[in-house]
Amino acid sequence: MKYTDGAEKSAEYLRQALALMAKQDAAMHPVSYAVWYDHVAGRNAALSARLDEYLKAGKALDEKATYDLYSEHVAEIDVDLARQISAGVQKVMADVTSSAEQAGDRAGRFGDALGKWCDELAPAAAGRSPGVNAILELTRDMQGSITLLKARLDDSRSEIEQLRQEVIKVRTEALTDGLTGLANRRGFDIELATSLAEAETGSSGPSLLIADIDLFKRINDSYGHLFGDKVLKAVAQILRDNVKGKDTAARYGGEEFVVLLPDTPPEGARRLAESIRAIVERCRIKRATDNGAVANITISIGVAGFRPGEAAHDLVARADSALYAAKSGGRNRVAVSAS
Ligand code: GH3
Ligand code: MG
Ligand code: MG
Repeated sequence: MKYTDGAEKSAEYLRQALALMAKQDAAMHPVSYAVWYDHVAGRNAALSARLDEYLKAGKALDEKATYDLYSEHVAEIDVDLARQISAGVQKVMADVTSSAEQAGDRAGRFGDALGKWCDELAPAAAGRSPGVNAILELTRDMQGSITLLKARLDDSRSEIEQLRQEVIKVRTEALTDGLTGLANRRGFDIELATSLAEAETGSSGPSLLIADIDLFKRINDSYGHLFGDKVLKAVAQILRDNVKGKDTAARYGGEEFVVLLPDTPPEGARRLAESIRAIVERCRIKRATDNGAVANITISIGVAGFRPGEAAHDLVARADSALYAAKSGGRNRVAVSAS
């Protein structure tokens, strides 16, 4: 996305951004400036909503949160563009591969036919006329060139196929959370948009769960960040084990997870949420340092069923409000948004 603000306006934003940045725990590098600049310029509503949460809670933004916000809300725009380009490149590559395959097959057949004719005609033509011999010679030559061409086409085809696989791999990585292997927020947003577009065509529509680990800050503070990461992986695994086929579990950010359940009414979603909540409550996670098991890890879950015609961010906002209700109701519980 381009910055179009003039010198005067951007200088004003700079002053405003600096004043806010000075209150944070993060260093004043370009990444944190980009975050705060977008915020004060009012050019990124989703980012501002997240920052407002921090400001309201009186929390200072640390280095990690700053980078997370940057990659989710500032860099995302370019990643989306890259995603579109990569989809285009994949299509072109697939087309070229298939053309090369067809051309290679035809060339191969033509070459074989030429070879066969030469073999058949050669004995009869032997010694007859220099013209016929010259034609036979040229045909053999042509056959050799065609065989070479086919080999080249085959090579190019496998090279292109390899490149195509690499593009697919990079694209998948861009939509996957590195720590847990679940879809990341970007991957989830794509799934959600697709699912809502399909829901418009008649089915009962999806439901959405947003799960947040309770008092995760305390877990990090008590046992360290590495253990915190282990907890995130364990919760991700529980989600993976408990969703089926068309359901998508994703890490939405930090210690927040989402599960999209296509064609599922809120009551079904609530039951699943309840069983996931209970499984997490029962799990014990070992500490790497002394092998001691840590219990009492719990999650709260907000559930919302899709309302026909509803925008994705409204569905997410309702699930989020339900999550908030679950937290204020005492945590380790499931709350459902009124449908
Ligand atoms: P609540 O029950 O209200 O959700 O309390 P909480 O402590 O879980 O919520 P809060 O939002 O205050 O803190 C979330 C913490 O999650 C703060 C941050 O350090 C931690 N966190 C976010 N992402 C990661 C991560 O990738 N790894 C680890 N170890 N911690 C993370
Ligand atoms: Mg939490
Ligand atoms: Mg949270």
